[in-house]
Amino acid sequence: MVDIVKEEKSVGHLINGEIKYSNGQILDVYNPAKGSVSKQIHVATRDTLEDAILTAEAAFPLWRDTPVLKRARIMYRFKELLEKNSDRICQLVGEEHGKISHDAMGELQRGIENVEYACSSPEFLKGEHSKNVGPSIDCWSEFQPLGVVAGITPFNFPAMIPLWMYPLAIVCGNCFILKPSERDPSSTMMIAQLLHEAGLPKGILNVVNGDKDVVDMLIEDQRIQAISFVGSTPIAEHIYSKATANGKRCQALGGAKNHAIIMPDADLDNAVNQLIGAAFGSSGERCMSLSVAVVVGNEVGDLLVSKLQDSMKNLKVGEHTNSSNDFGPLITKEHQDKVTSYINSAEEQGATIVEDGRNFVVKGCEDGFFLGGTLIDNVNTDMLSYKEEIFGPVLQIVRVKTMQEAMNIIDNHEYGNGTCIFTRDGEAARYFSDNIKVGMVGINIPVPVPVAYQSFGGWKRSMFGDLFAYGPDGARFYTRRKTITQRWPSNGVREGKQFSMPTMK
Ligand code: NAD
Repeated sequence: MVDIVKEEKSVGHLINGEIKYSNGQILDVYNPAKGSVSKQIHVATRDTLEDAILTAEAAFPLWRDTPVLKRARIMYRFKELLEKNSDRICQLVGEEHGKISHDAMGELQRGIENVEYACSSPEFLKGEHSKNVGPSIDCWSEFQPLGVVAGITPFNFPAMIPLWMYPLAIVCGNCFILKPSERDPSSTMMIAQLLHEAGLPKGILNVVNGDKDVVDMLIEDQRIQAISFVGSTPIAEHIYSKATANGKRCQALGGAKNHAIIMPDADLDNAVNQLIGAAFGSSGERCMSLSVAVVVGNEVGDLLVSKLQDSMKNLKVGEHTNSSNDFGPLITKEHQDKVTSYINSAEEQGATIVEDGRNFVVKGCEDGFFLGGTLIDNVNTDMLSYKEEIFGPVLQIVRVKTMQEAMNIIDNHEYGNGTCIFTRDGEAARYFSDNIKVGMVGINIPVPVPVAYQSFGGWKRSMFGDLFAYGPDGARFYTRRKTITQRWPSNGVREGKQFSMPTMK
């Protein structure tokens, strides 16, 4: 396998099992800890995309008819190769995303679990069978692949999120075109190459790099049957409406504002630890980051804020290479400026900046896109910093008097990705999970990302589409049900003409 990053300073495309370059635009990829350009990425042209689509179309008939056990066995080998190459993959994630090695390893492990789920495809693709639905009549459903499908992924999990998509799509018999984030494509490319090393025939997985224009070509192309998208809400909404208008199946996962309710009976020291990890891990650049703590009762509020403040003094922020760091830089200078502007606006609108991460400098990385952990108290729901997704290391405190008030606030927010409650009261927790209008709920669990054999998705404007990502919903998304009813008349028995609707009386 060519180590694309060691040997190449430019990132091309992976089409028909080979790295190819295009003659179009070139984009810079940054090392965000240093603030410097580390690589360049070739943007796919229409010809590049045509090459990928024709390759995938040509590979489909043979792949569709390949026994599912054979497809699954490639995934077993893929899992082994991912584990064997995990250090290198995480290094690439660190270099381009800035994620600290322990966090990158967690991301990769979550991705591998999706490959493990794909290994069980002979089980979940068995279909449904009903024998003797009528005299000598059997009826069954089978799940057939769609054809060529595509995935578009965000920067924040360059290893994991593509693994939510193509192992499952491919094991279901589809061919896949992936458009990774243009900000940190190298680990994604390496992982796609490993799948070929694991024995995937050429043409089944193709990776095209680029940005918006490549996505527009993908969602307009009639030969692509389905689109999986993960990214910000405005783009998710645009992609969902355009892809479905073009007759495609689409699941488009968007942004988030994840609230934690802190009840007066919560184990506060535990809640503080969980909040700190979930708010600042990965610099807050997770769609399941906890960005708002809604505290029930002013006394608990004061105590929580003072404990958070104490604990935040020990946050270690720096380069991915030092595994004792808690989190790294933000992805780009523009994003660093945007997060800073949200902190400025909260201050201007009357919130209290308790811990201020603005103007944070890491020694030796003076040009890096760093921001320190920031804690903002006395936030209200009219503030811009409350309404919008910040996607940075910023935790905001909203104070309320009752649990119902806290739940109303969460329900009224436009996003509904994740939420959690910290309490010792089982009845309150059950009421919360039964009634809250959010797709993924934690009870004393701060980042309730479902395991690979469940499925992942938000409610409200955090997701467009009906089937969640990965797990059982993912398998349904990448397949089409076909239902067959069959009769083999025995002993020459013939049916007469029947003009009424057939029934089983
Ligand atoms: P983004 O929306 O900017 O980009 C996502 C993908 O869309 C990229 O591949 C990008 O090239 C492409 N893209 C960007 N602009 C486009 C446009 N105008 N038209 C078509 N395609 C376009 O998101 P990001 O900054 O890479 O990632 C962060 C966002 O993703 C956050 O909002 C985060 O909450 C969200 N996210 C959501 C989930 C989830 O599961 N719900 C998971 C991870 C990230």
